[in-house]
Amino acid sequence: MKNNQAMSIFDVALFREQFPLLSCQANNHPLVYFDNGATTQKPIAVIEAGTEYYQAKNANVHRASHALSKATTTEFEQCREKVREFIHASDSAEIIWTKGSTEAINLVAQSWGRSHLVSGDEIVLSFAEHHANIVPWQLLAEQVGAIIKIIELNSFGCFDEQSIDSIITLSTKIVCISHASNVLGKVNSVEKVIAKARSVGALTLIDGAQVIANKKVDVQALDCDFYVFSAHKMFGPTGLGVLYGKKPLLQIMTPYQAGGEMIKQVSFSGTTFAELPFKFEAGTPNIAGVLAFASALDFIKNYQLNDDLVHKKQLIDYCYAQLSAIESLQFIVAGKPDLAIFSFNITNQHPQDIAIALDHLGIAVRSGQHCAMPLFHYLGLAGCLRLSLAPYNTLQEIDFFVASLKKLLTADQNMQNKPKCVVQTEPLSGLILAKFSSLHAWQDKHREIIMLGKDLARMPIEKRNSNTLVHGCESNVWLEVSITDSDKVKLSADSDAKIIRGLLAIVFAALNDKTVEQAISFNIQKYFSQLGLKQHLSPSRGNGLLAVVDKIIKQITTVN
Ligand code: PMP
Repeated sequence: MKNNQAMSIFDVALFREQFPLLSCQANNHPLVYFDNGATTQKPIAVIEAGTEYYQAKNANVHRASHALSKATTTEFEQCREKVREFIHASDSAEIIWTKGSTEAINLVAQSWGRSHLVSGDEIVLSFAEHHANIVPWQLLAEQVGAIIKIIELNSFGCFDEQSIDSIITLSTKIVCISHASNVLGKVNSVEKVIAKARSVGALTLIDGAQVIANKKVDVQALDCDFYVFSAHKMFGPTGLGVLYGKKPLLQIMTPYQAGGEMIKQVSFSGTTFAELPFKFEAGTPNIAGVLAFASALDFIKNYQLNDDLVHKKQLIDYCYAQLSAIESLQFIVAGKPDLAIFSFNITNQHPQDIAIALDHLGIAVRSGQHCAMPLFHYLGLAGCLRLSLAPYNTLQEIDFFVASLKKLLTADQNMQNKPKCVVQTEPLSGLILAKFSSLHAWQDKHREIIMLGKDLARMPIEKRNSNTLVHGCESNVWLEVSITDSDKVKLSADSDAKIIRGLLAIVFAALNDKTVEQAISFNIQKYFSQLGLKQHLSPSRGNGLLAVVDKIIKQITTVN
């Protein structure tokens, strides 16, 4: 079915056909993509619209009077109008293109905040914010001497009503809150917060990154001052987002980025800026992204994805019921989410262990703190597993996830019951190589890694502190490196994730008890490649093993 054919009955199988990536394999299994909170997959229409720009429309916008540029500029501005309509803004001059929600928030913090806040003014956030809606305000607060105040959450992960009332006061100058957190999936009562902010004369910025593809947003009805979102979370391209701002506010704001396209007149005696929205759009914009985004908006509209689609409700109800039935599973907040975002932990399991094991079955989920460290600190949790579903996901995928999870938990239980290896002092790299060369299936290698981790001596709890911590996004690693009098490397480490403990054991087998020279010259990349574990050394922020290896080598070199 083509994108432009409005759907009366939502057929998930037909809908999935619009997304080429969904028929791909991941780790030799059909992909089950449950990481839509991070970014959604893109339908053919969006992919083609981006490609078509480069093939048939490529010209810069707003700069030239030649036909190609004129046509592309017209289309580019029509896309802005489409966004205006989509969020029901009153004027397309209120729609500013940015790189994403992050840049849109930074724009407000710097362009509005630096000239409107003074020392002692208060900025109100909530404990459920993404780093993108925290750090720009911290930077601003430092620059102008403002104070950040935080709205508390209740046990359901929603804004605490009393806290809204007590935190937002006459000292509040701006309230910046998410329409829904990327971890909790509850749609916040932003209307109440906006009304309260207005009553004390404060402005409001709503981070709509997670909501915009799921719910109809009417910025005039909300009466917020700013609303931000990212195209890539709504079936659109990466590197593009939107800042909506009320026109009178945008008019008095000074741009914080400058360059071409945003000026009226430039001379060395002074520069004047272009009118809205261009004064905030310095440099060549993401033209291909904007044209592709217009297709994404049509797509959402045609399939009524931001409406109360029955399939979306079924996904939430079914997934919540299935997960709730797993005895060892604890949701990080109470109650069913409003969006298909499910965050939970499993007793005695580290989320990263589960995420890695599921990945090898083709199931893409997320583990860690999901760019919301203050939220996890507030909840007293080290992290969690997050499933985030989109309308192309199916009940069968949820069944597969639940069955796979249960199997993993049973297998893990069986492994924990196995006795420790007889030879359990640091195994030599040669022995490990020999062992791994006889293992071909990932499951076997995975089991072996976990067994090696089981045999790794735990670090005393008092040694697991900020001095020994190697920061990783998904799990913690504590590492201690020393050199003996006989110039031998002595390593001790621990992690809260079993898989990481296993991988540490493998690294230790190669480096522990070696001379400094041997350790430094050891080719860890080759070793992991021979073991068939190269993916564990990928330079991903979340993985962190490469950071551990780097730290070992750095410490050996400095200690030496
Ligand atoms: N806010 C929320 C609630 C988000 O989920 C995200 C992305 N995960 C952002 C802000 C930042 O969006 P982007 O990275 O697209 O700028």
